[in-house]
Amino acid sequence: MTIAVELGEKRYDRQERIGWWDQERLAQSRVLVIGAGALGNEIVKNLVLVGVGSIVVVDFDTVELSNLARCVFFREEDEGRPKASTLAERASALNPNVKVHGIDGDARAFGAGIALRADVMVGALDSREARLFTNRLAWRAGRPWVDGAIEALMGIARVFSPPDSCYECTLTDADFEILAHRQSCRLLSREDLLDGKVPTTATTSSIVAGLEAQEVVKLLHHDVDGVKSLDGAMVFDGANNDAYPLRYPFDDDCIAHHTYTDPVEWEPALNATFADVTAAVGWDDAIVELGDDHVVRWTCPGCETVTPAGTPVALVRFGDAECPKCAEVRQPEAISSIGVPSDDAALTLIDLGVRPDEVLAVRRGLDYRYVWVKSPAPELPEEWW
Ligand SMILES: [Zn+2]
Ligand SMILES: [Zn+2]
Repeated sequence: MTIAVELGEKRYDRQERIGWWDQERLAQSRVLVIGAGALGNEIVKNLVLVGVGSIVVVDFDTVELSNLARCVFFREEDEGRPKASTLAERASALNPNVKVHGIDGDARAFGAGIALRADVMVGALDSREARLFTNRLAWRAGRPWVDGAIEALMGIARVFSPPDSCYECTLTDADFEILAHRQSCRLLSREDLLDGKVPTTATTSSIVAGLEAQEVVKLLHHDVDGVKSLDGAMVFDGANNDAYPLRYPFDDDCIAHHTYTDPVEWEPALNATFADVTAAVGWDDAIVELGDDHVVRWTCPGCETVTPAGTPVALVRFGDAECPKCAEVRQPEAISSIGVPSDDAALTLIDLGVRPDEVLAVRRGLDYRYVWVKSPAPELPEEWW
């Protein structure tokens, strides 16, 4: 026992020599990492080495041979294995003091509760859609998130902290046009997240992931004296030996700036309805915002069959649109809110595919109240419940 304690003390000796370093604080922290690719591998490696208490990494992708040149934890025999759990298993061996938990699934299937349960979120992502989702989740929960992007020998790491400028504030009209175009020509689907086959190397990903992990450590110390979190971005240009910080202007009209402050914690029955949601905040007439579009029914132009549905648009796969009867492409009908009272008020949260552990905004006129529909995803480790 004494030997173990001494080993623990020796393990962190060099970093604890930094004046402001607080190992105990790190040990009590929870970090959510979205993405287990090149950046995710390096970010988790660093967070495990420094001794962050609990790390949850989420990814629905599987290991491909093209990942091996950039992912320190993957081996040839891992081809086809899920990235998140493989990464978690390997990274756990680096430091027995850290709990690393992999969730082999789509981060977009989780409600904002997963962000509320984390101290800091990290994006190890390669698409605008995934960043938009992560940004909205972070803002709703009022949590800072760290983003990274790489291309060839260029990289950028950035910190988005509510209530300052957010990822969406950085998007240009052209970016929004691309996003809208991608959404209109096909339903935003899981497949979109697999687009990012950017040219890059292990050196760029380790530099940017190193910067991201360093920002996480700083954020977990809550801006102690002598260390300052990145306010915006750090750009690293490896081809031209340049690095510089970048600040983003705050967009007053940005619709992402909505933090769901002080949500009522509510543990509902399985068949809870939207009327129950408004009752949970003490209102019997209000509008429940779903947070994003949910498909409520499919209509087939071929055989005219109407099929009820309940799925967030973000989780609809392209193939879901195909009519099972006649194979025509069906039209989805989506909604983003439910009025109470109304015919729909008796619908259950499950009917509309409200995510587990979601935080819902309930609006009456200009007033908002928030409900945290507490049901931690069973995939989450116990220390996050
Ligand atoms: Zn913004
Ligand atoms: Zn049909």
